[in-house]
Amino acid sequence: MASIVTDYLPLEIKSNPYYVHAKRGYLSHLLLDAAKAGQDVYENEYNKLNNLAYARKENNHITIQEVFKDNWGYFVEYCNRKSIPLRDAILSNVDSMINCRNFNSGYLFYECPNCHDIYVRGLSCHSRFCVSCGKKYRDARANEISKTCIYAPHRHITWTIAEELRWFFQKYRDLFDELFGAVNDVLTHLIQGKSKAARKRNERLGFISTLHTFGRDLKFNPHIHTLIAECTIDKNGKRKPYSYFNYDSLRKSFMNQLLKRMYKFLKGINDKNDIDEFFKIKKELYKKNESGFYVHAPQKECKNPNQIKKIVNYVCRYAGHPAMSESRIISYNKDTKMIYYYYDPHEDDAIINENDKIGRQYVTESVFDFIAKLIVHIPNKAVHTTRYYGFYANHSSLDIMHQPKLFKWKEIAKMKSNLNWRVRLISSYKYDPLLCHCGATLEIVPDLCYFVGYSKEDG
Ligand SMILES: [Zn+2]
Ligand SMILES: [Zn+2]
Repeated sequence: MASIVTDYLPLEIKSNPYYVHAKRGYLSHLLLDAAKAGQDVYENEYNKLNNLAYARKENNHITIQEVFKDNWGYFVEYCNRKSIPLRDAILSNVDSMINCRNFNSGYLFYECPNCHDIYVRGLSCHSRFCVSCGKKYRDARANEISKTCIYAPHRHITWTIAEELRWFFQKYRDLFDELFGAVNDVLTHLIQGKSKAARKRNERLGFISTLHTFGRDLKFNPHIHTLIAECTIDKNGKRKPYSYFNYDSLRKSFMNQLLKRMYKFLKGINDKNDIDEFFKIKKELYKKNESGFYVHAPQKECKNPNQIKKIVNYVCRYAGHPAMSESRIISYNKDTKMIYYYYDPHEDDAIINENDKIGRQYVTESVFDFIAKLIVHIPNKAVHTTRYYGFYANHSSLDIMHQPKLFKWKEIAKMKSNLNWRVRLISSYKYDPLLCHCGATLEIVPDLCYFVGYSKEDG
């Protein structure tokens, strides 16, 4: 009888690359078959087996999905009991993520034309909160950014806010629009603020902003990463290099614009206590933060095309990283409900001398605290966390059609093909899921596939 190789088989495999431990006979026979089919097929089968969910579990790989699966029910119950509201976006994203690749939500069915073995692949959940589906979403977004970039040096600017203001953003999530808006105000003013002529010509920079709501410690810390082209374009399509950014003035102007926008926003909400509190904080901030909010831009050499591409790729990847990577989880105890993980403080990034660094921080906390910290960062539905401005804005009247692009179409096509699930597995986990242990290629059997809703990724 054909064996079923799915992510759901209870297999026991050790992680040692030279040693596969299979208590059940069919595993060793799969490898034996693969060895007969050749070295490549053997290595493929070996990596495939070692990446099955059960094998990863044996290797102590803790998934966020299992932490939620085990504890989400209790968490929701607790919130209900305490009348703590959970946003719709949280409920739907967590539900999707918990059921990602669950066969009940649909699957694809493959069969080997040679040995008739089968492979069943559950459909993806498409939640941005899901570790694997979210990664695909962010990679697709990074590709879009790369595709948009014109051939010009680019730089990365990070805009942070005062700690005292964070809670307003947690309470009023629409304030994120004001955060994006403040960055846009500052960078538009930089070009058009002092020059009537520039205003008349509608001369603008082009930049792409991404919102992060988390710090490395998972705490709520809204800030923006901006990728900015070092040139301006005006309404006649005339392009001028622009590379002088005065950070002292950017800081002050960012603080002013944000506080102005926040005040206008809060006035609209009209909660007297919040407005009073805001005024108090504002006054203190002007006293304390004379130099403005922290605006940070690592100076990097960015002259030739390869260096520019490297910076753009770096910012895309950096802006796309999730709040928590599973590789940072060291242990999780289902019974005691405690989780243990680490983070590297961002303050250390700029410090060269190892002795001056704060160093890796380890956190032990209850899974419920951990869950509470993570879900705060789930964006509301239809909220764009990456936005395009100036000559990069979608609705911009400024013409960049005739500007040379940073990436060639061939490079973009390659990035696009990397989004395919099969290609992703080959590049990330070094195995082709459709290469059978007999050496033939599995084929899809449309009649045996099961769809609840159409899945674009897998279809
Ligand atoms: Zn086969
Ligand atoms: Zn998923």
